[in-house]
Amino acid sequence: MKNVTIILLGILLCVPVFGMNKEPNVPKQEKNFVVCIDPGHQAKGDNKTEAIAPGSTQKKARVSSGTEGIGTKKAEYEINLEASLILKQLLEEEGITVVMTRENNDVNISNAERAQISNNNKANMTIRIHCDSIDNSEKTGATILVPSDTSKYTQTIYAESQKYAEYLKEALTSKGIKVNGIFKREDMTGFNWSQVPVVILEMGFMSNWNEDKMLSSPEYQKKLMEAIVDALRIYKNSSED
Ligand SMILES: [Zn+2]
Repeated sequence: MKNVTIILLGILLCVPVFGMNKEPNVPKQEKNFVVCIDPGHQAKGDNKTEAIAPGSTQKKARVSSGTEGIGTKKAEYEINLEASLILKQLLEEEGITVVMTRENNDVNISNAERAQISNNNKANMTIRIHCDSIDNSEKTGATILVPSDTSKYTQTIYAESQKYAEYLKEALTSKGIKVNGIFKREDMTGFNWSQVPVVILEMGFMSNWNEDKMLSSPEYQKKLMEAIVDALRIYKNSSED
């Protein structure tokens, strides 16, 4: 009986020790990496206003309905969601936790509310998916937007956002997709309310006949989304070093 008691005591004493020793061996990849995907716009814009930043008196429409294809006449919010759902699937295949701000078009979620979804989920990165449009049908290519480094609202999230944006630019370029550049923006409600790193990918110009058609193609959407995943993989690994 005495030996059994000693063995039992031994086991009880060893369990916490093993438990503690186990911790450093947990592979870093098992850490929960959360990406929030925000498919830009929604079926019906909402012109009611909201503060452009926390505590700001400057206001902007809660959310606009976006642009539409010059040839396809397809709405931007539809393409944004199609591409975002592809991205969701690709990221989940990588074992990344995905939070979506919306999964259908018939919603009413403002840009500030979308940012708060990322904040509440403590996302490691927010990817906002959009399409561009300009009064020049020649203009093509993807464009990356990041929060400003000088705005008091986004100073703390600028560096990580910019770091990811650079990986994204590289990933897109290496897939043969033209990138117009990385631009800092102070005027975006969705950036100013964000407490986590965030970028917007403007996938291309719906005001260009050819790019408009390409943006509707599931194959081209997938190519763009794969670049986002490639860049996230590099970003995630670099953050774990
Ligand atoms: Zn847009």
